[in-house]
Amino acid sequence: MSMKESDIRPQETYKKFYQLTKKDSLEFFKNVTFDRISCPACGGNNLEHAFLKHGFNYETCNHCDTLFNNPRPSEEAIRRYFSEAPSVKFWMNHFYQETEEIRREKVFVPRGRLVIESVKKFSPDKNWDKIKWIADIGSGAGVFCEEMKKLAPSHVEVLAIEPLPTMSKLCEERGLTVIPKCLEELKVSDLPTKNDSKCIFTAFEMIMYVQNPLVFFENCKRLLTSGDLLIFSGLNGMGVDILVLWEKYRTLL
Ligand SMILES: [Zn+2]
Repeated sequence: MSMKESDIRPQETYKKFYQLTKKDSLEFFKNVTFDRISCPACGGNNLEHAFLKHGFNYETCNHCDTLFNNPRPSEEAIRRYFSEAPSVKFWMNHFYQETEEIRREKVFVPRGRLVIESVKKFSPDKNWDKIKWIADIGSGAGVFCEEMKKLAPSHVEVLAIEPLPTMSKLCEERGLTVIPKCLEELKVSDLPTKNDSKCIFTAFEMIMYVQNPLVFFENCKRLLTSGDLLIFSGLNGMGVDILVLWEKYRTLL
């Protein structure tokens, strides 16, 4: 299926969003704490300065080539940004709404199909029979969960894990089962009991926004048991677009 960037990022709206993001990056994180982390992919500390963008320092790992922001704003600052920043509000109220249906078709449905096939390929039984529920971490407006409900077998419960009140409300309005918590706060008791059945966690395009990816995966591990699956995706610095454009790459905010 072909997709142009302008399908999901209409140029005029994207330009406005980019300007707001730049302003927020420079102003919103002025007086917050920044923490250094090791390479989020390999844990290495042989790191090299890559570039500075909107006041944020980016480094590459000399061991595995991962490109990431370091030092990073504190967890609290990141949460405040996603709850209050004008650029995030613009994204939710304008940018996202304008592109929701095209994103549904070009992004969320293919993502749902990927999950269906991944379970057939990677689950211990190579099928969905023992999967009791699927929980999407950082569900946003809930479109992926909506599509997952259509694609998954009828015995599978779909849960939206979404801590932002504006977003979890949208999920509820879509009739989704919502757990309004962030991953760090999520307990086994918040989730449906599994007994000897299995579950799936999904986390698409969010690993790059968490303060410390290692902590994120440790929290996933805390909630998973043998035979469960975690299916996730994230941006990386090896695409031809970012390798050519480097700090001018607009999706790198
Ligand atoms: Zn590394």
